[in-house]
Amino acid sequence: MDKIVIVGAGVAGINAATKLVDNGYPGELITIIDMGKDPYNRKPEEVMTGFLGAGGWSDGKLTYHTAIGGQLSKYCGEEKAMELMDQVITNFKRFHPKPEEVQCSNPETEPDFIKPYFGLRLFPVWHVGTDYLSEIAKNWYDYLVEKGVQFEWETKVTDIDFDNQMIICGEFGNKYDELIFGVGKSGIDFAQELANKYELPDEPKSVQIGVRFEAPQHHFQKLIDISYDFKLYKKFEDKGVSLRSFCTNNNAAYVAVEETYGDHSYNGHAKKDEAYRNNMTNFGILMEINGISNPFEWSREAVKKLQVNGTGTYYSPSRKPSTTSEGNEVSAVQVDNMEPLFEALGEEYAQYIEDFITEMQIVFPTLGDDWGIYMPEVKYLSPEPLVDYENLSLTKYPNVHFVGDALSARGITVSGAQAIYVAENLLK
Ligand SMILES: Cc1cc2nc3c(=O)[nH]c(=O)nc-3n(C[C@H](O)[C@H](O)[C@H](O)COP(=O)(O)OP(=O)(O)OC[C@H]3O[C@@H](n4cnc5c(N)ncnc54)[C@H](O)[C@@H]3O)c2cc1C
Repeated sequence: MDKIVIVGAGVAGINAATKLVDNGYPGELITIIDMGKDPYNRKPEEVMTGFLGAGGWSDGKLTYHTAIGGQLSKYCGEEKAMELMDQVITNFKRFHPKPEEVQCSNPETEPDFIKPYFGLRLFPVWHVGTDYLSEIAKNWYDYLVEKGVQFEWETKVTDIDFDNQMIICGEFGNKYDELIFGVGKSGIDFAQELANKYELPDEPKSVQIGVRFEAPQHHFQKLIDISYDFKLYKKFEDKGVSLRSFCTNNNAAYVAVEETYGDHSYNGHAKKDEAYRNNMTNFGILMEINGISNPFEWSREAVKKLQVNGTGTYYSPSRKPSTTSEGNEVSAVQVDNMEPLFEALGEEYAQYIEDFITEMQIVFPTLGDDWGIYMPEVKYLSPEPLVDYENLSLTKYPNVHFVGDALSARGITVSGAQAIYVAENLLK
């Protein structure tokens, strides 16, 4: 039987190992290497590393929809994707000390008042909660140890020799027959180094760009009551364009400046403490554009065009930029119209965003001119290695399987599901 090495004891790595041993694969033939610590020794401030990875101290929201949390159905189809996500959720409940306390929120119908302008993405979310996650982690770890799985903690993988099937951790090497590579966001630079070194081909990516929209919360309250982090969307499939509201913040909601590659763009966050309540709502209006040949350069160029005096721009028909949670003005140069957005994105694409706002004015009738936009908001998507969709193995190295955030996931359920998919294929 093959020796399987898993790099990364994150959500993905752990779900892969569990699927394998649950189906009789000898634990002694599975080695999991992680630069973090086991769940008994991992500290809360070790946010990204150790048993269950970035998922270990997260909020534990397990989303259940193939359009949320990264790519899954692209590889295995819708039906299989849902079944794989079920398995991940079952694993979290199985090791939970009180599984009956996992709560599920499941809005079921799109409200009529947003139609015909918008769709609302409806999806169930299971909420585990941070404190229970560490208990789950301990139970889960004990089970894998009992099954014989070998763990190497506080061991950083520094290189991988794909040609000679060797994991390199500083001075030590570790041979594998099959490799599952699940290093998550904390290993993103390492994954990129490997991609460069082995000239791994990657998937074409889309552009993800738009604005951060801000308005007093009461205009949107009717929708917030249905879905706190509402996901309004519009699709123009024939044009390869879709738009969605992204990452909604309410109650004590602040716009935040992000600095990437030396330019300013915008995001938002919400504070829990009542003392910060400002009764504002902010969310991204993010446009996904497919078919642009160099999406990274295109986005960088558009972001640059929206910079004035070293910061981003703000437009509102009636308002001024808000303050940050620390009471400072959000850094942005106010402009008189949306023309800079049209210049940066081009007429066709900027028009989609203007129309999105116009249609929100119809759907939320009190909104009127009581809003502002911070320009731009951008997501630079990291390259996604090209894999065989049957088993997520690199097209150049069929015994190396990429999973989780290191591949194309952006959340717990999808990361775990990708890994189970790989394990199922190895079991075959
Ligand atoms: C604060 C926070 C909150 C989050 N909340 C949610 C949420 O509520 N719901 C949701 O769906 N998603 C959430 N996420 C995202 C989610 O945690 C990740 O999508 C998920 O954990 C990815 O799983 P993964 O296995 O791919 O990577 P990870 O879980 O990040 O695991 C990767 C592991 O690889 C190890 N590693 C990396 N590089 C190396 C190396 N070179 N050598 C050895 N080991 C290495 C790391 O130590 C880590 O343990 C949150 C993330 C964060 C940071």
